[in-house]
Amino acid sequence: MSQPAVHDAVIIGGGHNGLVCAAYLARAGLKVIVLERRHVAGGAAVTEEFHPGFRNSVAAYTVSLLNPKIIHDLDLAAHGLRIVERKLSNFLPLEDGRYLKVGAGRTREEIAKFSQKDANWFPAYETELAKAADVLRELILETPPNLVEGRGLAALPELIKAGKLGWRLSKLRLEGQRQLLALMTQSAGDYLDQWFESAPIKAVLGFDGIVGNYASPYTPGSAYVLLHHCFGEVNGRKGLWGHAIGGMGAITQAMAKAAASHGADLRLSTPIKEVIIEKGRATGVVTEAGERINAKAVVSNVNPKLLYQSLIDQAALPADFSRGIEAYRCGSGTFRMNVALSELPDFTALPGRDLAEHHSAGIIIAPSLSYMEQAYFDARTYGWSRRPVVEMVISSALDDTLAPRGQHVASLFCQHVAPKLPDGSSWDQHREEVADLMIATVDAYAPNFKGSVLGRQIMSPLDLERTFGLIGGDIFHGSLDLGQMFSARPLLGHANYRGPVAGLYMCGAGTHPGGGVTGAPGHNAAREILRDFRRKK
Ligand SMILES: Cc1cc2nc3c(=O)[nH]c(=O)nc-3n(C[C@H](O)[C@H](O)[C@H](O)COP(=O)(O)OP(=O)(O)OC[C@H]3O[C@@H](n4cnc5c(N)ncnc54)[C@H](O)[C@@H]3O)c2cc1C
Repeated sequence: MSQPAVHDAVIIGGGHNGLVCAAYLARAGLKVIVLERRHVAGGAAVTEEFHPGFRNSVAAYTVSLLNPKIIHDLDLAAHGLRIVERKLSNFLPLEDGRYLKVGAGRTREEIAKFSQKDANWFPAYETELAKAADVLRELILETPPNLVEGRGLAALPELIKAGKLGWRLSKLRLEGQRQLLALMTQSAGDYLDQWFESAPIKAVLGFDGIVGNYASPYTPGSAYVLLHHCFGEVNGRKGLWGHAIGGMGAITQAMAKAAASHGADLRLSTPIKEVIIEKGRATGVVTEAGERINAKAVVSNVNPKLLYQSLIDQAALPADFSRGIEAYRCGSGTFRMNVALSELPDFTALPGRDLAEHHSAGIIIAPSLSYMEQAYFDARTYGWSRRPVVEMVISSALDDTLAPRGQHVASLFCQHVAPKLPDGSSWDQHREEVADLMIATVDAYAPNFKGSVLGRQIMSPLDLERTFGLIGGDIFHGSLDLGQMFSARPLLGHANYRGPVAGLYMCGAGTHPGGGVTGAPGHNAAREILRDFRRKK
């Protein structure tokens, strides 16, 4: 016999989306408990000490996509969140001794060093991209039109939603619609080739198309991934990337405080083993320790593949749904390192060990799109790229709370590596060797780098899966390709944060609008859950 529910909602996972969902539900008066497997809340957005005296954002490392409405609604500033802008957006050192700086109002003149034609085109490119990002931004906090079978009453609201979407798109001029279509369907490489001729500008812009995307920049659909990284803002300035003082953990600590202030409970070190399903309805969860926690609604913050393949009795799921989840593509091709540094990198292209604006930028080691494409081909063939793509962000250049005075911490976000190695060996056998390669890759551009490394933390795709539950190391809880986006995330028919089991909801990055520290899936799922609670009254 089932026991009465003591909670309105139990949330599996205290990643940032789980925390946001909890905060909104608790704010609306629901009794909420969040159960997190790790010793710390925040999922992939956490700050931890990885070397004595050195702390850093362990996985996610830079902020832009976090939605301003969520920052405001949850009063994250009052809970300690402070985000600062980078002094320069990006710095691309080149092997021939030249470099490209992007941001700080100097991008055009910097591009002109390589191509006057590209410099002339850049403002128009920025305008078109900003218009497309505006369209996306409007959809971020909405539940996508959900496909329903048949033409009954349930189909009507979804048809209206789809109609509204069409109406919104028609507000764009024809050229804007063409650009949007190109961004939604083309490769980042093809898109950028239409605008620019010089390799460095295409590299610095095209990097966004392969971030967390195990693909060549010439793979169709990668232009969307580029766009996905452009809908954010920092302190009201659109398209910029910044840094949360205290690291990404400062964001999730503020979210946890916001949730707690509204009465939500958070339990750490509490892994969930199973979702309880009775008479076709989710009624609670069982922890690894065997404790049963009942709730009227069960909400999952974990990757849909993890939820539906490991935490639920398969017999409770329709066979076609299970097949869809089996086919749901996960795997980012990223390798993540944190390094403790005795001094700042001294770039051959822009010498100097004293703190300068380029040290606060996203420093991209990848001189061209063809270099990135080769990195992908290598990873598919050998398991990792012989000449990898590395973005280095020296967080201590903007934040003196992370490292001892005069010393530094940096995030190395490296692509491409195969989520699973082609020869079937384990990542555990290769992680040290690949970490050496990543350090050597930066060292080739800043020759004091290797000697300055005091300590390092390594996260292969397998480490990301083991530590954070990111299947295949997928940083987005599932690839951001057209077949898994918007109304199709995670599966057609389930884009409204509800799966096939009544009372079981999804609130993580495997739902619209996908990955990144946005808070949007958590916000949207909470709205849908509250709608169901109101209907039942
Ligand atoms: C290496 C890396 C770099 C990234 N860089 C950036 C970046 O710079 N900027 C950005 O915006 N985004 C970045 N991202 C993407 C972003 O961090 C994620 O998309 C986002 O954090 C997902 O949030 P979430 O709350 O949906 O899920 P998660 O953060 O994955 O949280 C899910 C939570 O569920 C918990 N959990 C799993 N299984 C169980 C269980 N059985 N029981 C209980 N709890 C469980 C996990 O421990 C975790 O805390 C990066 C991600 C990674 C991995």
